[in-house]
Amino acid sequence: MSFTSHMDAALAEARAAAARGEVPVGAVVVAPGGAVVARAGNRTRELADPTAHAELLAIRAACAAAGSDRLPGHDLYVTLEPCPMCAAAIGFARIARLYYGAADPKSGGVAHGPRVLAHPQSHHRPEIYDGIAAGPAAALLRDFFADLR
Ligand SMILES: [Zn+2]
Repeated sequence: MSFTSHMDAALAEARAAAARGEVPVGAVVVAPGGAVVARAGNRTRELADPTAHAELLAIRAACAAAGSDRLPGHDLYVTLEPCPMCAAAIGFARIARLYYGAADPKSGGVAHGPRVLAHPQSHHRPEIYDGIAAGPAAALLRDFFADLR
């Protein structure tokens, strides 16, 4: 079976988030058969919800579609290293594989900070692939924050 990256779809969600004035992070969830079952960008400002990160919105939508609080065999693509909150949710959802783009030394929780999924309290550790399309993902964030200054 050939590997198809869905990071382009996640980047499209990140660009759409930037256009809405949200921090440009995008995520998609892919079902075991390869179908994209959820896609989302950050909506914290629009929803006035500090938990409305792209990953959480995508996981919620995928779980609603699946009618289950777990997503075994599913993949999550996200343009930025997930924060500790989202990393915990990825573990709770039993996501099989996590693909992320840019590293986030300041707020990430997978390879930085609490390294939630590697913590002994984590009940589930997905396969983790970092640095996927990291360049464009980081550029989106850089441009977004540069425009704010
Ligand atoms: Zn997050």
